[in-house]
Amino acid sequence: MNIILMGLPGAGKGTQAERIVEEFQIPHVSTGDMFRAAVKNETKLGLEAKSYMDQGLLVPDEITIGIVRERLGNDDCKNGFLLDGFPRTVPQAEALTETLKEMGQSIDHVINIQVSRDVLIQRLTGRWICPVCGSSYHTLFHPPKEAGICDKDGGKLYQRDDDKSEVVTQRLDVNIAQAQPLIDYYAQQGLLRNIDGEQEIDAVFAEIASILRG
Ligand code: ADP
Ligand code: AMP
Repeated sequence: MNIILMGLPGAGKGTQAERIVEEFQIPHVSTGDMFRAAVKNETKLGLEAKSYMDQGLLVPDEITIGIVRERLGNDDCKNGFLLDGFPRTVPQAEALTETLKEMGQSIDHVINIQVSRDVLIQRLTGRWICPVCGSSYHTLFHPPKEAGICDKDGGKLYQRDDDKSEVVTQRLDVNIAQAQPLIDYYAQQGLLRNIDGEQEIDAVFAEIASILRG
């Protein structure tokens, strides 16, 4: 099953991705996670991506499409994948369609998690992440059992640099500007399913799972 999880920053993609990959046993392909790993490891890609990420801007399409093409060619994606945070622009979506065509594959589901801008700001500024497993927590909406510590592996939670309030609004505006044409692209193909992302985490997951189970 080939799935795209769409939604603005803070919509709950990562939170739902954790549950989807466990339930459906497919790899989680997050361009944001890939860029953050590259930045941490100080690779050439990381150095290129960092200046855009720090400003809340999108990394150029050429670079982003390149890393996704490479990732989808890996063996673990042969029986399906969950894309999170990609595509974010129409050229990225077109390149994805083309890449999958070359591989003899296509997208089965596009899930768009909808959340209002005010709620997104609250979610992003209260988000804390585990450096070990990548799980997302929220100080109010999804707190860990012990403050600052991951429930799953005891990792010490950290706040992403781009979740600090100065960059959050810029990131949202940049992503909002790209969102509608992308939604139209997949709606025209009859693939788009909108989900109300302001429900409880478990209720959002129940809706997604029911779509994916068909
Ligand atoms: P994204 O990957 O789309 O940027 P995350 O999954 O990291 O978003 O979620 C952003 C923040 O909102 C996290 O702190 C997460 O714990 C919290 N969150 C996710 N889903 C919900 C929800 N349905 N209700 C309340 N808070 C949520
Ligand atoms: P995310 O973790 O999805 O919020 O992404 C963090 C940052 O990585 C974004 O603000 C962008 O700078 C960059 N990024 C992630 N995915 C993409 C993408 N598909 N296109 C361009 N930039 C991206």
